Amino acid sequence: EPALLSVRDLVTSFPIRSTLLRRVTGRIEAVAGVSFDLPAGQTLGIVGESGSGKSTLARTIVGLARATAGSVLFGGTDLAAAPADEVRRRRRDIQMIFQDPYTSLNPGRTVRQLVTEAWQVHPDVVPRRRWAAELGELLERVGLDPDHADRYPHQFSGGQRQRIGIARALALRPRLVICDEPVSALDVSIQAQVLNLLRDLQRDLGLTYLFISHDLSVVRHVADRVAVLYLGRVVEEAPTAEIFAAPAHPYTRALLSAVPRLRPWREVAPEPVVLAGDLPSPANPPSGCRFRTRCAQAAEVCAAEVPDLVPRGTHPVACHLVPR
Ligand code: SF4
Ligand code: MG
Repeated sequence: EPALLSVRDLVTSFPIRSTLLRRVTGRIEAVAGVSFDLPAGQTLGIVGESGSGKSTLARTIVGLARATAGSVLFGGTDLAAAPADEVRRRRRDIQMIFQDPYTSLNPGRTVRQLVTEAWQVHPDVVPRRRWAAELGELLERVGLDPDHADRYPHQFSGGQRQRIGIARALALRPRLVICDEPVSALDVSIQAQVLNLLRDLQRDLGLTYLFISHDLSVVRHVADRVAVLYLGRVVEEAPTAEIFAAPAHPYTRALLSAVPRLRPWREVAPEPVVLAGDLPSPANPPSGCRFRTRCAQAAEVCAAEVPDLVPRGTHPVACHLVPR
């Protein structure tokens, strides 16, 4: 299966400006050299704490943030290097679903306006004479009543609003949908409904998902593969079942351990692995392994050398102490 999306050595950094000194005093590498492949029709889960660079990664791929280095190959085109008009054409194929549909939807616009403005910007996707019919089909597809097309976002429940966000993302018939914490703002009872909808849409429309979440139990249900992000770097990547059954990186183990019902190796390690301290500032990351300030196994080599993401055991792990 050829990859629809191939991200290579992607870096996204931002200048840190001191208002006091009135100059740039440094840079934050929010995404610090990320690589992965996402085959068409599959879901890659990106997992990490807040501050791990998940959203910046998403925003870079979708074009809301600029890559500092590396490449974002989408259907063979490098979006980080292609000319602007080529990128604009490609961007239509990549849409985003945001965490909070209420803040990502313009409250002054009806559902009809929210969806059709996408068609206004890209008139070749759906001809105007087809708008009404296409809108009805789209709303039905996401489980909304087409008769409610002229209502405003505030007239819907949280779960329904996320369905509007999904309809909007699908209006341009994208191939890749980046879901950034799409159910985190919803009641647990509603989360499963929205996840089932996303799964059905993927099956019916052949969609490819990059699914970003801090919630491992959510990712477990939707992802084919999981990449674990720590301070802007992937520390482990594997098929979902393998990540949960045999996590190898100390950070992955700590993350899983924080969710008792996901602690698959509890027979061998009954005690949860506790994460010491806070996430270090991405403006001043630790040398060598970025996780070493919180790692119980940290050794001398960990401060001196950056561990590469290379196959160790069954799948790629970025840790010096996991045997090859
Ligand atoms: Fe811990 Fe060292 Fe492995 Fe980093 S490389 S996770 S500090 S053991
Ligand atoms: Mg975020």
